Amino acid sequence: MNPRWLTRVRPVAWLEGGALLALAVLMATSGARLLAVDSVPALACVVLGLACGHAVADLVTGTAHWLCDRVFDERFPVLGPLLVQGFRDHHDDPLAMTRGDVLAVNGNTALPSIPALLALLAVPEPASAAGLGALAFALGVIGSAVATNQFHAWAHAPSVPRGVAWAQRHHLILSPRAHAVHHDGAYDRAYCVTTGWWNPLLDRLGVFPRLERAIKRSAERPEGATR
Ligand SMILES: [Zn+2]
Ligand SMILES: [Zn+2]
Repeated sequence: MNPRWLTRVRPVAWLEGGALLALAVLMATSGARLLAVDSVPALACVVLGLACGHAVADLVTGTAHWLCDRVFDERFPVLGPLLVQGFRDHHDDPLAMTRGDVLAVNGNTALPSIPALLALLAVPEPASAAGLGALAFALGVIGSAVATNQFHAWAHAPSVPRGVAWAQRHHLILSPRAHAVHHDGAYDRAYCVTTGWWNPLLDRLGVFPRLERAIKRSAERPEGATR
């Protein structure tokens, strides 16, 4: 989710286009290694790894969303104009991300995934069911985190392909109703936008408000105070 000003910088679009292409190649190359599954336990490990990776991506991207909404602001060095501004733009105009093409929606998440996927390629071929599960987990985290902007855009889109609507209804990806909680309020809850699985628990426990209070307290503490 690029801030409005960055979408007008043409070299950034080229860079993100290249990253998207590299992402597709690297995901396919790493994903092909999962085809070494040759037993039911190995298959179970791969499915479990992918599911856990999908869940962890929801938590990680939700935490990043919370940081951008509530902790950092647009004046924060580097991250402010590059990342935080995009979330502010989205709150002002939630449907803007549904008007962009694949590149506009997914380009900026593809870029940081490339080093992680390259590192994954350097890992030796998994020699056990657990190894395959670990590879599936890593691919699940990266793949789902990269796809989060797309899931988020679909949750705002007036219409989506039938398969996407099915996945939304079965809560495999973020549903419009689950995400409406974020936009209906003061943008102070339901930060997770990959699947939204973590939102009920995090909101019920008040995890992010507690963290905000802790951050505020530590910022207000006089210099030199130990507690
Ligand atoms: Zn949204
Ligand atoms: Zn937000």
